[in-house]
Amino acid sequence: MYRELLKSFGPQHWWPVSHHARNPSQARLEIAVGAVLTQNTSWKNVERAIAAMFAAGLMDAAKLRAMPEGNLAEVIRPAGTFRVKAKRLKAFMEYLWAHRGGRLDGLGAGELAAVREELLTVHGIGPETADAILLYAVGRPTFVVDAYARRVLRRHGWIPTKATYGEIQRLFHQALPQEPQVYNECHALLVELGKRHCRTRARCAGCPLENLPHDERA
Ligand code: SF4
Repeated sequence: MYRELLKSFGPQHWWPVSHHARNPSQARLEIAVGAVLTQNTSWKNVERAIAAMFAAGLMDAAKLRAMPEGNLAEVIRPAGTFRVKAKRLKAFMEYLWAHRGGRLDGLGAGELAAVREELLTVHGIGPETADAILLYAVGRPTFVVDAYARRVLRRHGWIPTKATYGEIQRLFHQALPQEPQVYNECHALLVELGKRHCRTRARCAGCPLENLPHDERA
């Protein structure tokens, strides 16, 4: 599946960082913030919220931590459910300062499973968000499972309908080389596949996985 997708779509160059980030640490923060903001909204809305954060000088961990939650909510309004997301971003910043010296690259150190568990205790950070931050912001080898991946795997009979996040992730961890670059690319390719072909109503004709056994109604 991975080879076919890569052959058809080519490298996706994820994560889609904006042109606003001026250095690697700002880019890392933008990725982590984007991983929280993207919950239940389109990427277009996330981009607008991120641009507003840059304009307000908020793509900085110390400033983000100092900003009152209500004011932050107003800035990220374009992302939708902005009060909820402001609370989550503030909780993430508190965690970062309490456990990682306010530095995102601190998430790159220590045993991956332990760091991931720690992140999962933060308000509003579930497995998909935690894995997106760990993989895309600090390059740790943990696969990001999203609704697209779940749908593709289900339609091809590779997972049962009720497979858990952990079960699906294990499948990717076992099937692919355990390299961040591969996980990065594979997740991005699945997003592209989900947008182009494996939509709610599947468009199997011309899909790169068309020749693999599948049931588009699954
Ligand atoms: S062949 Fe059909 S079911 Fe399989 S990934 Fe493509 S669109 Fe989805």
